Amino acid sequence: MNKLFAVIGLGRFGMSITEELNRMGYEVLAMDTDEDKVNIAVDLATHAVRADAMDEQVLKSLGIRNFDVVIVAIGQNIQANILTSIMLKEMGVKTVGAKAQNHLHGKVLEKVGVDIIVYPERDMGVKMARSLVSQNIMEL
Ligand code: ATP
Repeated sequence: MNKLFAVIGLGRFGMSITEELNRMGYEVLAMDTDEDKVNIAVDLATHAVRADAMDEQVLKSLGIRNFDVVIVAIGQNIQANILTSIMLKEMGVKTVGAKAQNHLHGKVLEKVGVDIIVYPERDMGVKMARSLVSQNIMEL
């Protein structure tokens, strides 16, 4: 059976995850509190909903616990990011991924039981440095 994905927070990070999963043929529920973001996601996701992920009832009514993977792509609001992650794990979502703003935030997410923690800017910086060296650009 096809995996079910949900992406919460449709900034550049969450929107690109949504678009790519959709492009690969997966079902994706996209959620944001911002109506403009939801309107963009309508064309990129299977379902796009305007909702606050910190509202436990909303998450329950969407049947979020039945999703295989839920990505918390809320950025600057660290409190919303952490609280949403806690609720998802407590509701029994098997795989929760979240983006961390910094090392301490990442440690909290680890304690909460988040399964996949990413630091997009840091990870891309590392990747770019490696790619620059592997292409021997430094020697040009
Ligand atoms: P980017 O991915 O563009 O780097 P960012 O790290 O600056 O984004 P934000 O813009 O702060 O992150 O958050 C990403 C998205 O999450 C925004 O579109 C915002 O509306 C959404 N968001 C914030 N809080 C909630 C919430 N409680 N429920 C649902 N969506 C939320």
